[in-house]
Amino acid sequence: MQISNDNVVSIAYTLTNDEDQVIDTSEGGAPLVYLHGAQNIIPGLENALVGKQVGDKLKVSVEPAEGYGEYQAELVQVVPKRMFAGVDNIEAGMQFHAQTDYGMQIVTVAAVEGEDITVDGNHPLAGQTLHFEVEVVDVRAASKEELEHGHVHGEGGHHH
Ligand code: ZN
Repeated sequence: MQISNDNVVSIAYTLTNDEDQVIDTSEGGAPLVYLHGAQNIIPGLENALVGKQVGDKLKVSVEPAEGYGEYQAELVQVVPKRMFAGVDNIEAGMQFHAQTDYGMQIVTVAAVEGEDITVDGNHPLAGQTLHFEVEVVDVRAASKEELEHGHVHGEGGHHH
């Protein structure tokens, strides 16, 4: 079975950056399971998997535009500490859900200087070229319910 829209695909993968550092890997854990054609994964990787089948191995380099987007300087903002009511110790690296001009986003605390908190709304991998080594582990047809929901159910997917 070749990968096409409306398939549930399982992949083993390792993701590295331009410096050859491993950012993420499924090694030692469960494969990533996603619904193909439902924008569950970044476009650059999804496009590269079209037509592949179980056992196929591939290397894919994904530019930011096809990955997590370009780094946007306007998503970095300085906000007053009082906006973090209820949080005792704000430190760089902490992540919060925040309502922004661009909708609900995860923002990362980039710096803390007294009452000034610098937050960054970019995805941590924005602006980076991503290098994937992928092996296709499983391909199956999605159920009607999975297609209606736009995501995978069961092993590696949603349980509800
Ligand atoms: Zn569902």
